[in-house]
Amino acid sequence: MTTASSPTPSELLESARRDHAALVERGLSLNLTRGKPSSRQLDLSADLLELPRGRYTAADGTDCRNYAGAPQGLLELREIFAGLLQVPVEQLIAAGNASLELMHDSLANAFLGTVPGGTGRWADAERIAFLCPVPGYDRHFALCERFGIEMIPVPMTDEGPDMDVVERLVSADADIKGIWCVPKYSNPDGVSYSDEVVRRLAAMPTAAPDFRIFWDNAYAVHHLTDEEVEIADVLAACAESGNPDRVLVFGSTSKVTFAGAGVAFLGSSPANVSWFQGLAGKRTIGPDKINQLRHAMFLGDAEGVRAHMRRHRELLEPKFETVERVLTKALGGTGLATWSTPKGGYFVRLDVLDGCAREVVRRAAEAGIALTPAGATHPYGDDPRDRTIRIAPSFPELDALEEAIEGLAVCVRLVGAEKLVA
Ligand code: PLP
Repeated sequence: MTTASSPTPSELLESARRDHAALVERGLSLNLTRGKPSSRQLDLSADLLELPRGRYTAADGTDCRNYAGAPQGLLELREIFAGLLQVPVEQLIAAGNASLELMHDSLANAFLGTVPGGTGRWADAERIAFLCPVPGYDRHFALCERFGIEMIPVPMTDEGPDMDVVERLVSADADIKGIWCVPKYSNPDGVSYSDEVVRRLAAMPTAAPDFRIFWDNAYAVHHLTDEEVEIADVLAACAESGNPDRVLVFGSTSKVTFAGAGVAFLGSSPANVSWFQGLAGKRTIGPDKINQLRHAMFLGDAEGVRAHMRRHRELLEPKFETVERVLTKALGGTGLATWSTPKGGYFVRLDVLDGCAREVVRRAAEAGIALTPAGATHPYGDDPRDRTIRIAPSFPELDALEEAIEGLAVCVRLVGAEKLVA
C-alpha cells in the first residue's frame, strides 16, 4: 500500500527529474575526480620551498649538490620513513618523485631481467598475469596494460582481498606473477588489510617461484580519525614464512608534502634491494639529494611526519564528514546506494544500483559535476556490475564539495528511480 510518507517509484522519478533539471539549470562547474591535496594542504609544506636554506651537506658529509654519494637515498630521510613504512632502514631506498615510477621500474626490470628467485625474464614468458583486487587504483591497471600483463580481478572484502580466491588462483597458475595491494585505507574503498590477510598473503604457496606482492602503501600515515590504523608488517611476515623476496613495499610523500614533488620509497628484502639498486644505478647516477635533504630537514623525524599529517587531517576530516552527512541525508534509507566511511586515505567508494554507475556519471556531467569515469576502478575499465563510483573529496573547498555531493545524490536518485520504474 502506498501512503503519503512512501512515494511510489513514479513519484520518486518525477521529483528526481525536477531536481535534476533544476541542477542542470544552475550551470555548475565542480570536480570530484582526482585525489589531489587542496591548496591549503599544500600550504602546510610552504617552508619546504625555503629549504635547504644554504645547507647542502647530508649527515654523512655527502655534498648533495654533486653526483657522488647516497645512491640509495639520504640515510637521514630513510631513517624518518623506515618505521612508518615498516621497512628496516638498510632495506629502504629513497628515490625520485613518484612511487608509481618505482612500480613501473620494478615491472620493467622484471621484464628485462630475472628477479631474485626467478627462472627467466618475464618478457620471454608467453603470458604474465597479475591479480587485481577490485575495486582498485586505475594507474595500477594502466601499468598492467602498458606491459601487456593480463589482469585477473579478485573481489575485495572489508579486510582485504578475498584470500580464498587469491590462494586458489596463485597456487594453480604459474603465470600469475603478482598482486596489487593498497593495504591501508585502500583506493577507493578505504579498506585496511587484517593481520590474517597479511599473514596469508605472506605464507601462501604460489606456483610462480618469482611471485611478487606490489604493496603500495600510499596512505600509510594518512589518518582521518583518532583510530590510527596499523597493519601487520608484511616484509617481516614474508621473511618469517620463508618467502623473504615476495614483497615490494612502495610509498611516497606525494600526499605528505608536495604531490609530484616529494620523495618516493621502495623497501624490500636485501636481495630485492640490491637487484633493484643495481639496475637503478644504470638508469640514474643518483637521486635528487637536495630534495631529500630538504624533506629530512622539514619533517625532522617520524613524530614530525605524524604531527604534519594531523594538520592534513584537520583540513581533510571536515570534507569526508560532509560527504557522509550529505549522502546520508539525501540517500540514506532509499536503498539506492551504499558508500564507504573511510578512516583514512583519499577516497569514498559509492555503490549505486547495478547497471547505473555509467548513467549516474553521465547525468552528473550534464549538470557540470565531473566524476571519475565509471569502470575506472576495475581492470580494462570494465565494472561488470556497473555500480562503483569513486569520490575524491580532498581538492574542492567545503562549500563546492557540499554542492557537488548534493548534485551527485540527485543523479543517483534520478538514475535509480529510472531503473525501478523501467
Ligand atoms: N598509489 C596509490 C594507491 C595512489 O592512490 C596514488 C595517487 O593517487 C599513487 C600511488 C601515486 O603516488 P606517487 O605520487 O608517489 O606516484
